[in-house]
Parts: sequence; structure tokens; C-alpha cells
Amino acid sequence: MARRNKIYEGKAKILYEGPEPGTIVQYFKDDATAFNAQKKDVIEGKGVLNNRLSEFFMTGLNQIGVPTHFIRRLNMREQLVRACEIIPLEIIVRNFAAGSMSKRLGIEEGTQLPRPIVEYCFKNDELGDPLVTEEHIAAFGWASQQDMDDILSLALRVNDYMSGLMYGVGIKLIDFKIEIGRVYENDYPRLIVADEISPDSCRLWDIETGQKLDKDVFRRDLGSLTDAYSEVARRLGVIPKTSNVVKPTLIN
Ligand code: 5GP
Repeated sequence: MARRNKIYEGKAKILYEGPEPGTIVQYFKDDATAFNAQKKDVIEGKGVLNNRLSEFFMTGLNQIGVPTHFIRRLNMREQLVRACEIIPLEIIVRNFAAGSMSKRLGIEEGTQLPRPIVEYCFKNDELGDPLVTEEHIAAFGWASQQDMDDILSLALRVNDYMSGLMYGVGIKLIDFKIEIGRVYENDYPRLIVADEISPDSCRLWDIETGQKLDKDVFRRDLGSLTDAYSEVARRLGVIPKTSNVVKPTLIN
């Protein structure tokens, strides 16, 4: 196979130049990091599960008219995506208090919020992705007012889609993070959902038991991360119901 050009390596993924202009190959690693990479491990099978789960969520979003970067899955660990300019923000949508919001505002984890709350963090590892306001975003030119309107609309549509999907398999979508990219179509800019949507970037709790099925299992040492992610994948029909995975057996 021809040697590929690596464009970027992050904590959980590697990006390579794609086969055609305007495309990128996104490779999912097994590396898990938390607390701005102060806690690290390699979790066998995580990349394979996240590749399949992100494919599943992004395909569904594309089908209901929420544009994403996803084009097609290439193999167990790679997917072909559209190249885009990533807006340097992490967009967080919260339905129930948890994590940093619970700490910051003293709200008990699991408390239902009066409505979905959208937060913005500046994407900067050295600074630990600090929370910012729309004032910062406008003043520093990270996104225009039109971008912010579109980002809010995309974030809430992703929230509705993901909440409903998860509810259907007995899981509560507590919160999630997405990233948004800009593409140009006939010279017109358009915003699309980029990066990944997976249990690495969502909080997912079993509706009945409250069991955590997301990266908090790793962050808080609550058990096996692959068992948790496999459970999500099994419930969604992404892996066979009977599979008990360390090395996941995947449909397709
Ligand atoms: P919190 O602000 O409570 O730490 O995170 C809120 C939500 O956004 C959680 O679902 C968390 O997993 C996700 N999130 C926040 N920052 C990051 C990040 O840098 N990477 C990933 N993968 N998810 C994040």
C-alpha cells in the first residue's frame, strides 16, 4: 500500500491525506486519555468500537438532513471524511448536570436541566479547553454571528437525534461534545458536524440503573471501558447481541 501522508495526530485519532482532494482518512486509535492527557492507557478495541459508533451516528444524522463530514467507513479503524476547517470550539450540549457543570455550579450529577444548555469551550489543550462566552468568540473572531446561529441549530438537532436514539435503547443522553467544520460548496461556506460522535465524547447512563456507559468509566475507574462501549454498540445493533468483546466481532 502506498505510504500515506499524516496530517495530524491527536489523542484518540490520526488524520491522513485522503485518496481524493477534499477528503481525509480518519484513523481511530485505542489510546484513552483523560484530564488533559494526565491519565493515559491503551484500551484494546476502543478505536474499532468508536469507528463503528461514529459511523452509525453520523450516517443517521446525514440521513435526517444534518450535514456531517462522514463519507464512508473504510475498514475496522478508518473512515473517509470530508476535509473541513475546524472551528476552534468544543460545543457541549447538556440535558442533565454532570462533570464540569456539576463542579462549577454545585448541581448534583444527574439533575435534569430546565432545557438543553449549550456551552462553548476554546479548543486548546495547553489551556485545558477553557469555557468561553459568545463575547470571546466574536471578539477573537473564532466564529461569526451567522456561524454561531448555525452552530446552535446543528447542536440542538444533534441533541434531539441522539437523545431519541439513545432513549430507544434504554440510555439517557446526559451531555455530549461535538466539533463543527466549515466546507465550501460553490464558494459558499457551510457548517457541518465533524470529528467524532462516540462514547468518548458523550455521557451515556442506563435509564434503569444509572450505570455509566461512556468515558467516565475510564476517567473514574469504574470498570471495563470496552464492556461499556460494547454494551452501547450491542443495544444499537452495531455489533451482534451475543458478542462478548475484547476484540469486537462486528457486523459487516
Ligand atoms: P465536561 O465539561 O463535563 O467535562 O464534559 C461535557 C461533555 O463533553 C462530556 O460528555 C465529555 O465527554 C465531553 N467532552 C468535553 N471535553 C472533551 C474533550 O476534550 N474530548 C472529548 N472526547 N470529549 C469531551
